[in-house]
Amino acid sequence: MPAIAVTCPYCHAETAVTQTDDYAPQFHPCPSCGMNFIAERRAGGLRVMKVADAPCMSNPDCREVETSATCEE
Ligand SMILES: [Zn+2]
Repeated sequence: MPAIAVTCPYCHAETAVTQTDDYAPQFHPCPSCGMNFIAERRAGGLRVMKVADAPCMSNPDCREVETSATCEE
């Protein structure tokens, strides 16, 4: 699992995140400001975003809710 340098979307400090082989977005705490940002692996590289800016499909919390939801009428 290589560590990838990213810029925190909150405080713009450089930090490194370790991505799994999974392409699912993950929360990463910033060691500089302590905020959790989302890192999502894309074909062209790693994208980071604030939780508030993330679309539902890029938000681990939201994805969990959606995937665990049952198909009820
Ligand atoms: Zn930060």
